[in-house]
Amino acid sequence: MIDLHTHTLFSDGELLPSELVRRMAALGYEAVGLADHVDASNLDFVIPRLVKVSEDLNLGQSVRVVPGVELTHVPPAQIGGLVAKARTLGAKIVVLHGETVVEPVAPGTNRAGLEAGVDVLAHPGLITAEDAAMAARKGILLEISGRAGHSFSNGHVAKMAREAGAGLVLNSDAHAPRDLMTEDFGRRVVEGAGLGKGAHSELLQNARRLLEKIGCAR
Ligand SMILES: [Zn+2]
Ligand SMILES: [Zn+2]
Repeated sequence: MIDLHTHTLFSDGELLPSELVRRMAALGYEAVGLADHVDASNLDFVIPRLVKVSEDLNLGQSVRVVPGVELTHVPPAQIGGLVAKARTLGAKIVVLHGETVVEPVAPGTNRAGLEAGVDVLAHPGLITAEDAAMAARKGILLEISGRAGHSFSNGHVAKMAREAGAGLVLNSDAHAPRDLMTEDFGRRVVEGAGLGKGAHSELLQNARRLLEKIGCAR
């Protein structure tokens, strides 16, 4: 299993990166993306620390740890600049907190993230066909979310992605130990989105391909 969207106590997660990763090792994960919430206030604080702990953890245990961020509630006009800054600071995966149906995310956030070339557009809510087509063109993965609330629109995201030919990825958006998905639960989330039985391994393969692309595959 791979989970590219998790939170630690460097934002609003409950666990230190080391405990999160140890718990994921115990569940049989092969790779994890640490994607704490950032905006202009904390990007330069969070990223170097996640980079450091990822380097250390990658020497000492089995789960491949990838430092990233989740740009969250950033004004759309500023997303492009912060994506570039996050990469300069060492974030290997840039996730964008998309237009989930359960929060007042600024309209235009999905589009700004796609234009900026994020790696994963998380919980993109009622994503439009145009934006799904842009994700397909740019190879940006759309997220099927295991998180309560964000997952309300999984069926719509799955449908838009299929129609546009965009890649999908399954993430937990975990903030606490109980949020980490077992393989069985992940399969049910994917099937529940209407994607059918074979899709779970397809989504896992998409996550693996992204890790290969950014040079973080084992
Ligand atoms: Zn959060
Ligand atoms: Zn989010």
